[in-house]
Amino acid sequence: MGKNGTIEEKFKKAMEEGRIYPYYQPQVGPDGKVVGAEALMRWDDPEHGLLPPSYFIPELEKAGLIHDADLYIFREVCSFQREAMDARIRTVPISFNISRHDLLGREFVHEMEKLREEMEVPADLVKAEITESSAIGGKRLIQDALKELHEAGYTVAMDDFGSGYSSLNILKDLDFDTIKLDMKFLDGGTGGRGGVIVGSVMQMARWLGLPVIAEGVETPEQAEYLKGIGCGAMQGFLYFRPMPGAEFKELLQKAALGKIAPPMDIISTMDAGKFWDPESLEALIFSSYVGGAAILSVDGERAEYLRINEKYIQEIGNCMPQDELLRSDPFSCMLPESQRIFKAALSRAVETKDEQECETWREYNSKCCGDSRLCIRSTLRMIGSSGREHIFYVMIRKVTNEKRHLEEISESEMRFRFASEQANIYAWEYDVATKEMRPCFRCMRDLGLPPLVENYPEPAIEAGIFPPDYADMYREWHRRIEKGEKTLEAIIPLTVGRVPFHVRYTTEFDESGRPVKAYGSAALVV
Ligand code: C2E
Ligand code: CA
Ligand code: CA
Repeated sequence: MGKNGTIEEKFKKAMEEGRIYPYYQPQVGPDGKVVGAEALMRWDDPEHGLLPPSYFIPELEKAGLIHDADLYIFREVCSFQREAMDARIRTVPISFNISRHDLLGREFVHEMEKLREEMEVPADLVKAEITESSAIGGKRLIQDALKELHEAGYTVAMDDFGSGYSSLNILKDLDFDTIKLDMKFLDGGTGGRGGVIVGSVMQMARWLGLPVIAEGVETPEQAEYLKGIGCGAMQGFLYFRPMPGAEFKELLQKAALGKIAPPMDIISTMDAGKFWDPESLEALIFSSYVGGAAILSVDGERAEYLRINEKYIQEIGNCMPQDELLRSDPFSCMLPESQRIFKAALSRAVETKDEQECETWREYNSKCCGDSRLCIRSTLRMIGSSGREHIFYVMIRKVTNEKRHLEEISESEMRFRFASEQANIYAWEYDVATKEMRPCFRCMRDLGLPPLVENYPEPAIEAGIFPPDYADMYREWHRRIEKGEKTLEAIIPLTVGRVPFHVRYTTEFDESGRPVKAYGSAALVV
């Protein structure tokens, strides 16, 4: 910061002049809808312009001013929500950041509550974020804060999950409601090691019944990957940058009217005819679209490429010239079964007028690159039709490695086992229809369970893992799961040693809402 005046004076002045305020970064769900936002503090300095928090937050913390600053942002968030409600705008929950320093004094939550009640904002419209690293030097502080925040009706996310070493331990000991997983902590992206870690975290979160928000999502590849492994919401430059309150309010208004075209869906608003005009916006977007895309015309059994962008060719990793590929028969490269799958997806796209997805194995032969067998995931949508001819927009992505990766999934499972090992957690899967239970490695090792236990939970009760006085309750749990109970938890003394464990079940449902599986975990009560 500049030379004139202490940080304290400058900060007070900036507050008075309304130069400290939040920007809002929207979070989107898997279907591209805005489901939340995070408030991020900005300091609009007359000399230096808009300052990012990394510039001044450490200074505010040092000077003991962060408490006031955070409370001020919280007030702004509440007043945003109040105005949105008054204007009957359908709003979404907004998260705000709580610094470790805020928790040192005992008053923070109390002061928040006063502000929120004054403005009559429901507690579920504001969400707290606390960074994982706040637990450094003792969990007590966060434990108490979590308790207070929960009592006041807030949900609390663990921010920056994955940045520290003790992540898993913290996760099982502290009662967070959500995890924020920052992509920037995963060097190497979603492939290779990064992917295995994300996969393990998601699995871990599922065992514990915690939703995951991914942040720092910058590429469509990351987004696709995260969606594919069941990530609930995403935040990142790919979707939206942090924006001023007025802009965010506008966005919410448009969202309510169904007007936002999320980046991945932009095609739906395109006009097929415009692709022929090289000057049109559509043509520009097409050629600079980040992924591989093609326009395909299909007339019965006959198909031809009308356009292919540069990235399409890159994606299939071939140096076949664009015009040669354009002249080729789109179906000819596909293996017979894949041809059938692709044609079925085209028919579905015509019937539903909606986006369809399929995976096809293809063989591309070229003089320069030799032969290669690839698995391509296509997302396709009909953008026009006349008579028997239909025109499709097709986006492709090579998933060969991912497919191969799936084969290596056992490796990721090993990691998960290792993870639960470290976190002192026993985990198992219960199949509702078959009453089969699959224990984690640790259960097998410590409790001598086989990899598959039939007629669960009877054998566990018989073996004395669940003591007789808890047997009926535990049997009842399984009946409740079958009836659709979402979560169950209790402290239960386990084994003949009657060691207290926090036992928890989270049920997974199929599309029609029927319970399919329940994930159980038992964490040692410390
Ligand atoms: P954070 O809580 O992890 O916030 C996310 C940061 O990632 C934000 O940086 C956001 O602008 C940035 N970001 C979002 N999407 C992307 C992306 O796709 N790629 C990349 N590279 N970055 C992305 P920002 O606004 O500079 O904030 C930095 C940090 O400052 C925050 O990290 C948070 O720890 C702290 N902070 C921000 N506002 C407040 C506040 O009101 N109170 C407190 N105590 N801390 C705050
Ligand atoms: Ca945050
Ligand atoms: Ca973060």
